[in-house]
Amino acid sequence: MTTPDMAPGALWGGRAPAAPPPTGVLTPQPSGALPGASGSLPGTPPQPPAALTGGRSPLGGAATRGGRFTPEAARQDIPILQRPVNGRPVIWLDNGATTQTPRQVIETLASYYATANSNIHRGAHTLAREATDLYEGGRAAVADFLGAPSPDTVVLTRGTTEAINLVAQTWGRANLGPGDEILVSALEHHSNIVPWQMIAKERRARVVPIPLLPDGGVDQEAYASLLSHRTQLVAISHASNVLGTVPPVREMTALAHRYGARVLVDGAQAVAHFPVDVQQLGADFYAFSAHKLYGPTGVGALYGKPEVLAAMPPWQGGGNMIDKVDFDHVTFAPVPHRFEAGTGHIAGVVGLKPAIDWLTSFDHEAVAAYESALLHYAEQALATVPGLEVLGTTPDKIAVMTFTLAGNDPMDIARWLDQAGIAIRAGHHCAQPSLRHYGLESAARASLALYNTAEEVDELVAALHQLQAQGAGHGG
Ligand code: PMP
Repeated sequence: MTTPDMAPGALWGGRAPAAPPPTGVLTPQPSGALPGASGSLPGTPPQPPAALTGGRSPLGGAATRGGRFTPEAARQDIPILQRPVNGRPVIWLDNGATTQTPRQVIETLASYYATANSNIHRGAHTLAREATDLYEGGRAAVADFLGAPSPDTVVLTRGTTEAINLVAQTWGRANLGPGDEILVSALEHHSNIVPWQMIAKERRARVVPIPLLPDGGVDQEAYASLLSHRTQLVAISHASNVLGTVPPVREMTALAHRYGARVLVDGAQAVAHFPVDVQQLGADFYAFSAHKLYGPTGVGALYGKPEVLAAMPPWQGGGNMIDKVDFDHVTFAPVPHRFEAGTGHIAGVVGLKPAIDWLTSFDHEAVAAYESALLHYAEQALATVPGLEVLGTTPDKIAVMTFTLAGNDPMDIARWLDQAGIAIRAGHHCAQPSLRHYGLESAARASLALYNTAEEVDELVAALHQLQAQGAGHGG
């Protein structure tokens, strides 16, 4: 079985890394735990999982950290940041795609499989009860985290994409008709565009883009004029994965509600960067993915207002989502189980709770202030690179810097940086309309998280200076 304390060769398919990892990182630990970990892991006798069953993770959490935030403290919890890439400790600036995982989450996943693994909701035995409690604990943690009125307003999904498709396929199919309009901002990720196009085509409704301003903000005047009684839904990101823009979602929601429209907020990029309160926002739906929130891949959540979820028909059919099944009649489970057909990513939901606990163990204001200072530092430093231009310059933005570098193809920039162990993303970022707003099909993107440092930004900027000085990486 894969355990966090296995030798590095096992993780990298038997290949040795380019250079030996720093002592104590991903090398066998005598205690059978990751460096600095105090929790029990496989190797110790299986016990009812204390690391799992308690309220907060005993390995982290506000109780032990006292809310203090420093990027160094955060880094100590992230084993992969010690991993070398091309002979240098990795500099992870691809947080917009996925964030790295704290050992508290890794250990919870290992501990879950070692001590509590079972299918849920159906079993009369001990492990089924424990696994069910842990899974429902994950749901309750999400509800708390989002300021939702109750865990029953949280549907557990594979991630943001599945959450939005669920709304399109259930709410959309039930509520959209010929001539109806869905307003979708031009900065949306494809996962908040394509599901609407699909259901609109089926229901003969229309997807109408809300245009952007030159700085990457959502044009509020255009939005106000596009809203009408034909508008059934507004789909808007809480933060853009390309431009970093944080639109005035609360105000936009209030305006949409005046026309009786529902509002779906894509929180994929927001939740790791600033506190979210779905009730304050007034959102009808709010979606996010755990893997952009220091949690596992393949799991996420959809919040829905109780009365909206209650009126929605099920989507996928199968186990877990039913009440009674006969060949001539079927009744469905109550919300939210009605929307969770089949066996979900149970371990992932269990691992989402320590991710939330980890993030919320830090002082939120301090994290937001740090990320904002680091963003400003990085933007100023990047401005010194000849030919570099950052897209998206709204005053309110998360720490995402999408840029072009004159004479260099974005993919060549990413490959060049990778040689120095620096991970950035290049391409269309699954948000082609927002790049086309700048006349581009592709760009490079560095996206920061709370564990990034000014020194890492310096390395990025130095490598880009070097690239320009050498004239390397010309790709058209
Ligand atoms: N929305 C936004 C704004 C995103 O950045 C992403 C991921 N890049 C998604 C949705 C889709 O998330 P997932 O692939 O986890 O479903």
